[in-house]
Amino acid sequence: MRAHATQTSAGAATGAARPPVLSMRGIRKSYRTGDVQTPVLHGIDLDVQPGDYVALMGSSGSGKSTLMNLMGLLDRCDDGRYTLQGQDVSGLSATEHAAVRNGQIGFVFQSFNLLKRMNVLENVALPMIYAGRSRHQARERARHMLEQVGLGAMAARMPNQLSGGQQQRVAIARALANEAPLLLADEPTGNLDTQTTAEVLEVFDKLNREAGLTIVLVTHEPDVALKARRLVRLKDGLIAFDGRPEEQAYA
Ligand code: ADP
Ligand code: MG
Repeated sequence: MRAHATQTSAGAATGAARPPVLSMRGIRKSYRTGDVQTPVLHGIDLDVQPGDYVALMGSSGSGKSTLMNLMGLLDRCDDGRYTLQGQDVSGLSATEHAAVRNGQIGFVFQSFNLLKRMNVLENVALPMIYAGRSRHQARERARHMLEQVGLGAMAARMPNQLSGGQQQRVAIARALANEAPLLLADEPTGNLDTQTTAEVLEVFDKLNREAGLTIVLVTHEPDVALKARRLVRLKDGLIAFDGRPEEQAYA
């Protein structure tokens, strides 16, 4: 087993029988552009346990987003096995992937991607309406989610009336609206200054500690990685380090 096996995550401590949230074995991925084949991931083995909070680091171009997109079923690997919440999803169709993704995974990206013409509450409610909830239910839960991220008072504002950090917190509320147990965040603080980065990290911390949310976050900022429970570093298409952030965040 890898180094993290010795590290107790909140979920592992309480739920001995629970399967990993996600499990990857021998995951390979390359991109083809014209005649050029670019190998990116060379056989990734990775387990993420319930309640884990993983910072994924690695130099630019090392494949962090590629790995995250595979985790999030936004792309397919060339080879390997991927198990999500105990279900082997490697062989599923794109439609089946979309269904799994909608129920199980919340995404947050560097650009907040809020809809400009909708207010904050409507932005958070929208994915729930797509998922078939009534308008009333969706708005109730959106209100609850906004309180979770400390923005209960901002429900009626338009996105451009919020700071970057506040907009990212709205995006987090939206990502979790459908009660996904896994949050994937690709450089979520990449566009934020130090103060607003801290706001967003506090929200991740709270959701992980209090709600048991499993988080995988891509970052190139050591200070961000130090907030996670676990650091995974990619190098040359493989996992070069897997352990406590304090040991390697500044490497
Ligand atoms: P990171 O997020 O760590 O910066 P990426 O996963 O985005 O790295 O990219 C890894 C490598 O794969 C880079 O060399 C990048 O140029 C290449 N790459 C990423 N996406 C594509 C794509 N859609 N088509 C071709 N090459 C890609
Ligand atoms: Mg990237």
